[in-house]
Amino acid sequence: MIKPAAPSRRLSVAVLGATGAVGQAFIRLLANHPWFELTELAASERSAGKPFAEAARWIGSDTMPANVANMIVQPCDPARVSAEIVFSALDSAAAGDAEPAFARAGKTVLTNAKNYRMDPDVPLVIAEVNAAHLDILDVQRRGRGWSGAIVANGNCASIVAALPLAPIHERFGITKVMAVTMQAVSGAGYPGVPSLDILGNVIPYIKDEEPKIESEIQKFLGAREADTIRLADFPVSAHANRVPVEHGHTVCLSVGLERKASAAEVELTIDNWCGSDAVRGLPTAPDRAIVVSAQPDHPQPRRQVDTGNGMTVVVGRVREDPIFDVKLVAMGHNVVRGAAGASVLNAELMVHRGLLPDS
Ligand code: NAP
Repeated sequence: MIKPAAPSRRLSVAVLGATGAVGQAFIRLLANHPWFELTELAASERSAGKPFAEAARWIGSDTMPANVANMIVQPCDPARVSAEIVFSALDSAAAGDAEPAFARAGKTVLTNAKNYRMDPDVPLVIAEVNAAHLDILDVQRRGRGWSGAIVANGNCASIVAALPLAPIHERFGITKVMAVTMQAVSGAGYPGVPSLDILGNVIPYIKDEEPKIESEIQKFLGAREADTIRLADFPVSAHANRVPVEHGHTVCLSVGLERKASAAEVELTIDNWCGSDAVRGLPTAPDRAIVVSAQPDHPQPRRQVDTGNGMTVVVGRVREDPIFDVKLVAMGHNVVRGAAGASVLNAELMVHRGLLPDS
């Protein structure tokens, strides 16, 4: 495999919402990144002006990377951030105003917030699945008069579900999907769900989650058409549950097929799928975006959440479904594949395709 050419110099990047769960995942992923240099961190007025080590409570058993501990947290103001590539891990209440302000100021914002995902001129991208949707950025820049841009990541459960659905849709066509999630507590950010609510418990409600899963899967698997993305036209029904797991969202999928196929054929199709050639060899791209496990009791978050450095979705239990056609279980790291890792991979793809400044 020929490795994609690295940019001529490391590109400066900033993280907005750096103190939170996703912000910290960005910091880990960018600590020794060959193409990007993390130069600025920003968060709310509560954190601004403090050294990062004082503003943030480091989540995880690893050590806070030394390069960020003394960085002074900036407010989320484009005038205070010089990097042109901005990863956003902002709470949606802050992202609504902040992200367009950064795009207006010429920054490329790669966001994890829900606010703009379904806007027709905003690419909602999983690098291996729908890299071509990035072409809509011209429409966004023209229509909004921005020199910068907003590129969105999906919701963490939508990404885990959409990855195995992509090869199924590509090969057989999908007529309908039922998705039942078991979502980790880290999906609610930090400090997130109170321990006394979730320990030994299942909460069958995550605010606003089900409509996101239902619509975002249609956008990921939709097609670029003139000035917009035409949504895939199959219906999706989602049930979202919070479970006492630290990291790793599990999604049980039942799928109706346009062209009938056996469970074995569907499993082989998922297993053979490599996704877009454009991502091959990018620094954050895993060797396999999806692996299929033959173990009857897989996938399990505790055992497999870090597969492919958290960038690989593990699929298991592909079998016939008496109501739909096939059913399967998918599991992926919500904070890495479902958030920060997906954004960093999208940024690498944009550099590789010459869609970012100086790249
Ligand atoms: P989090 O732990 O609650 O972190 C939120 C971040 O937003 C913190 O850095 C916080 O800064 C900052 N913030 C809050 N209010 C702000 C304001 N008014 N102005 C500027 N900054 C503000 O949340 P998270 O789980 O990291 O999620 C971040 C985003 O990613 C959310 O939009 C979430 O929906 C999305 N997402 C999360 C996951 C996941 O698995 N956790 C997955 C996919 C997408 P302070 O510390 O200064 O308050």
